[in-house]
Amino acid sequence: MPERQSTPKGPLDFTPAELERHSRQVLLPNVGAAGQARLANAAVLVVGAGGLGAPLARALVGAGVGRVGVVDHDQVALSNLHRQPPFVESDVGRPKVAALLAHLRALNSAAWLDGHEHAADAAFMAAQVPRYDIVCDATDDATTRLLLSDACKRAGRSLVSGAAQGWSGWMVHFPAHPGGPCQRCLHPHMAGSPAASCTGAGVIGPVPGLVAQMMALEVVRLLLEPARQQALESTLHLWEGQDMRLRGLTLRASLSCPHYSMVQEGARQGAAEQGVPHHG
Ligand SMILES: [Zn+2]
Repeated sequence: MPERQSTPKGPLDFTPAELERHSRQVLLPNVGAAGQARLANAAVLVVGAGGLGAPLARALVGAGVGRVGVVDHDQVALSNLHRQPPFVESDVGRPKVAALLAHLRALNSAAWLDGHEHAADAAFMAAQVPRYDIVCDATDDATTRLLLSDACKRAGRSLVSGAAQGWSGWMVHFPAHPGGPCQRCLHPHMAGSPAASCTGAGVIGPVPGLVAQMMALEVVRLLLEPARQQALESTLHLWEGQDMRLRGLTLRASLSCPHYSMVQEGARQGAAEQGVPHHG
């Protein structure tokens, strides 16, 4: 189970300072104090603390998400500064997790932050994913993307995944529902392919920040409307910066996806046990 404060926050439990901090959000009719309490009681894990993960974690803490975890094992480099707020020159050479947590604590000294200075390997992610409500893939390599997606499907957690390269970016929510699409449905040939990363391919400064804010917005929406975490389909949002275009593509589970095959197998067995004929 995700770890939470011992006493969940109710809509009437905010201090005057907390209400003032979040007042512009609480004012919105579809947020209110009840919605703000949902955010305060939530735990979100951000994997990767670079151009996507660092501004994303900042946006989540800013929005009032109660517990934010960050995983990264890299150091801040001078070449990161053009696209990785809130890092500044004095952070260069520091571990990203330590530098980011210092900025997040300066933003909200009461935020519950988990820093994981660790590689996002399979065993570590299998242990960490169940401790959070929602996981964010802010990494830039194919192997980590797949193992994160698999860990989320196994643990029944929504995964919000983003990428930025060149002038383009994309963001997608892979629902927690076992029959919903996952990274293997979207990229069936990803395994073993050297995915292009910002490091190797280059990226225009503002694009990762834009994708990071789209990811943060999606996390907030999923926390305010938890039923969306159990959707059977999703939308892949593609941003093309050179002509300022945002496109949406509907995404469903692929028949050849190993996770989806397991769901189908389970449904067939259930139908057989109940004597119900299975079609398709
Ligand atoms: Zn899949």
